[in-house]
Amino acid sequence: MKQKEKKQENPSPLALRICDCGCGIEFQPKRADQFHLNSNHYDFAYNHGPRKEKYAEERKVTKAIRKNDRILEKYFRMFKKDVFQLHLLIVEADGFNEGMFTRVIEIPVQSVSKHFHVILKYCFRIIKQGNINYIEIRKL
Ligand SMILES: [Zn+2]
Repeated sequence: MKQKEKKQENPSPLALRICDCGCGIEFQPKRADQFHLNSNHYDFAYNHGPRKEKYAEERKVTKAIRKNDRILEKYFRMFKKDVFQLHLLIVEADGFNEGMFTRVIEIPVQSVSKHFHVILKYCFRIIKQGNINYIEIRKL
């Protein structure tokens, strides 16, 4: 009698799965294409899955922007000048990523309008001289 009950408890040949919603619950799938404990967990995953990813991406970008600003701030404090230039390689060695900025503005440099990439408190432009790249840094 006891053995019969045990067999009925787990009649599915499918292996136990961890629910895909992120709840961590292990369940016995009834079908091969069942990846969630039930429809509530499926709905949760549908509503929260892509959103979670989006926020993760936003956090990554925000982190990179803040890092860039901190790196420029470090040199700003070191040089104690409103405008200065240094080898791009130096800031890159600190982890500076010139592709990470919030917007582009124009600032006249010797009466010629130049594009500067704004991070947060600082902005920069890349100056190419021969095969050496310099970065000009300004505080906003
Ligand atoms: Zn779940």
